[in-house]
Amino acid sequence: MISYEEFSSNLNDLRLKVSKACEGCGRKPEEVVLLPVTKNWPVDAVEYCQKAGVFRVGENKVQEALSKQAQTDGVSWELIGHLQSNKVNQVVGAFARIQTLDSIKLIKKVQAASERIDCKTSILLQINAGNDPAKFGFSMEDSKFALDEALSSSHLRVEGLMTIAPYVPDDLSVAQNTFAKLADLREALSASHGVELKDLSMGMSDDLAEAIACGSTMIRVGSALFGQRS
Ligand SMILES: *Cc1c(COP(=O)(O)O)cnc(C)c1O
Repeated sequence: MISYEEFSSNLNDLRLKVSKACEGCGRKPEEVVLLPVTKNWPVDAVEYCQKAGVFRVGENKVQEALSKQAQTDGVSWELIGHLQSNKVNQVVGAFARIQTLDSIKLIKKVQAASERIDCKTSILLQINAGNDPAKFGFSMEDSKFALDEALSSSHLRVEGLMTIAPYVPDDLSVAQNTFAKLADLREALSASHGVELKDLSMGMSDDLAEAIACGSTMIRVGSALFGQRS
């Protein structure tokens, strides 16, 4: 993988890009948290982040994340990949947040596992805001039932919504529309359910400026920091 110096320079470039995107839409860079995505890279990627003062990373596979967790200290982990229900017990307690609750069944399982070990688990509801058959997530229509279920779960802390835009190279308007939809949905759900839903996790290396313009509070960035995954 790349050297720490290259990573550090990528991180600087990325922060500049975030600042510019924020400037363009009247937001403050502090409103947008960077979540480096270390998936497919060795534990060195996590150590690079720590060395640069970033102590929160995203992983999309449970096994891979747990193995890196065993080799590091002082890092918060967020699960950003689809969670299979047979892995819920391994995840609850090991991750600071699960961004990918995408079915009522999964909400119930994470609630039950959290209750069992008496912890409160921070979660985001994953919404398939781009209506993409290749993506997981609640449909826009089902999101209100999902939020009902999550809010009535004693051991879940519902912090917001997450989406992944459909992959359409060369046409960022698709991503832009997806992010705008998620932002509207947050407004609507926040009003109907009387909750804040402070976080909008949206935007990756190639569409982060669009996501920031639509109100993203967390961008999940892999390749712009660590290079192309093979
Ligand atoms: C891999 C991944 C990312 C990072 O993607 P890049 O294009 O490499 O920045 C972000 N979010 C999710 C859910 C991912 O699986």
